[in-house]
Amino acid sequence: MASFVLESSFAFNCLPVTPANFDFHSHSIVSDGFLPPRVVAGRAAGNGVDLWALTDHDDLGGLAEARVAAEEAGMGFVNGVEISIEWRGVPIHVVGLGFDPANPALSGGLDELRVGRIERARRMGDALAAIGIPGVYEGALCFVTNPSLISRAHFARYMVSIGIARDVPGVFQHYLASGKPGYVDHRWATLDEAVGWITGAGGVAVVAHPARYKMSGADMRHFLDDFKDVGGQGIEVTCGSHSPDHVMHFARLARHYAFHASRGSDFHGPDESYVDLGKLPQLPEDLKPVWRLVV
Ligand code: AMP
Ligand code: MN
Ligand code: MN
Ligand code: MN
Repeated sequence: MASFVLESSFAFNCLPVTPANFDFHSHSIVSDGFLPPRVVAGRAAGNGVDLWALTDHDDLGGLAEARVAAEEAGMGFVNGVEISIEWRGVPIHVVGLGFDPANPALSGGLDELRVGRIERARRMGDALAAIGIPGVYEGALCFVTNPSLISRAHFARYMVSIGIARDVPGVFQHYLASGKPGYVDHRWATLDEAVGWITGAGGVAVVAHPARYKMSGADMRHFLDDFKDVGGQGIEVTCGSHSPDHVMHFARLARHYAFHASRGSDFHGPDESYVDLGKLPQLPEDLKPVWRLVV
């Protein structure tokens, strides 16, 4: 009887033994994506993804719906989250995969991060008002789809809607990127906290989109040393914001650190993402794919 339950639950999870197309980085309306989790699941399956993770920013609220929809679509599903951290003053994102979402340290830590986002958003609104653009915090709230998760993406979408810039990247470039007038410093989670929450909940920690950080090569290696020391095991090598040169560079670092390699589109929605779900190049063949650690 026990073995029957085990076998049928494995089949029900639809986890492929060797996924040909895994995508372990994507967002829904639970953070700053445009589509509900079940719609993201359907789109991933329609694009040929056979193993998928939803990785909303600092929130686990979409995982149950995503899992059911993935199973209905015959696609494997892995619990995911993208945690906002700060390391030596640099904001960095760490993806967690394959954890227990009921773990209290993980969910409690994320609760605090989301509360901190509200206070940070108010300060962003004040900073923009000080340069003559009032009401942006209130306006951004109209673009928020999860009342407890406000991100700079919501600010950018509102600012496009009132004609401050033609598109979202333009708003970031002139107002919201580090060093621009609407950017405010913020205390995110520490590296130890985020990796500790993920591994303490039985998951695997992965560095998200490493090419996006404003860091020297030496600082990146220092960060990866620290990440490995605290228990990090993976790095995104193929992702929506990586050029072919970035892929080669971070593949070399994955080999050097013996990290498992991840592949993730960072899909937010059809109109605001460079790469659609599952539409990424394959990982270099010699790398250890991170799905091996979570299925
Ligand atoms: P936050 O977590 O509030 O700092 O917001 C970060 C989010 O803003 C990212 O996850 C993206 O969705 C979006 N974002 C950041 N930089 C850019 C950019 N240059 N262009 C477009 N969207 C961006
Ligand atoms: Mn985002
Ligand atoms: Mn990110
Ligand atoms: Mn992301």
